[in-house]
Amino acid sequence: MSNIDWTNKTWNPVIGCARVSEGCRNCYAERMAVRVANMGLREYDGLTNGNLRKPRWTGEVRFLPGRIDEPRHWRKPTVVFVNSMSDLLHEGLGGEQIGEILAVMRDTPRHTYQILTKRPERLSELHDAGVTWPDNVWLGVSVEDQKSADHRIPLLTARRYAPVLWVSYEPALGPVDWHRWAAKLDWIVIGGESGPGCRPFDLAWARSTIRAFQAVGKAVFMKQVGGQLAESGGKGNDPEGWPADLRVRQYPSELESRPRMSLGMNQQPQDGGL
Ligand code: SF4
Repeated sequence: MSNIDWTNKTWNPVIGCARVSEGCRNCYAERMAVRVANMGLREYDGLTNGNLRKPRWTGEVRFLPGRIDEPRHWRKPTVVFVNSMSDLLHEGLGGEQIGEILAVMRDTPRHTYQILTKRPERLSELHDAGVTWPDNVWLGVSVEDQKSADHRIPLLTARRYAPVLWVSYEPALGPVDWHRWAAKLDWIVIGGESGPGCRPFDLAWARSTIRAFQAVGKAVFMKQVGGQLAESGGKGNDPEGWPADLRVRQYPSELESRPRMSLGMNQQPQDGGL
């Protein structure tokens, strides 16, 4: 299960990562990996060094064949966030391994798979190598500011790789002018940073993002206002605590064409790195 508000469940056939930009500075997955390694979970050995106050990925990425078939056993249609503890397009992961993961998605069309990457540079390379994305994939990039948006979104939207192309603007660290991008995307998730060391979030960034996407009829999901603005600590992900104009939680229309799908039943435990 997952406590990420826009998904039902996480699936981690790959673990381990390396930081790529400011959005990674307080990576939740990195901290979680240190914690579970300290608890004795052997599969996380060697993926991090440092400690909980100063966690660091070693850069090793680990493919876990033992987890690859998990979705095949989930009989109920589920919205699945793939690799909350890594980046599916990490350069340490071979095309063959990515292909194996995509094959499981293709073989389980009852599920919807949400993928986020900060490495969309690999999309065209994989495309040229013959990798195709199944129809039940929502493919997205994480961005934190204008610079990362201007770099990653054109790489994502260069081709219609998947039926849903989306952006996670979390942790939002600066304003973004979306006018060049909103019409090319199907969904945006907005979130301020949470957790230790979380940086400021400005509600004006959320407002202008909501306006830009709604102006072109695209779905918006306001996830959280982040730790600095949360009234009672935590992530500030209870819409009841927000100004009324920010209470927007929509999903791409593609979801409505998959009528057995359900969302909003999130339980516990882990949040994602991307
Ligand atoms: S998991 Fe995501 S946020 Fe964390 S280091 Fe990797 S790319 Fe960055």
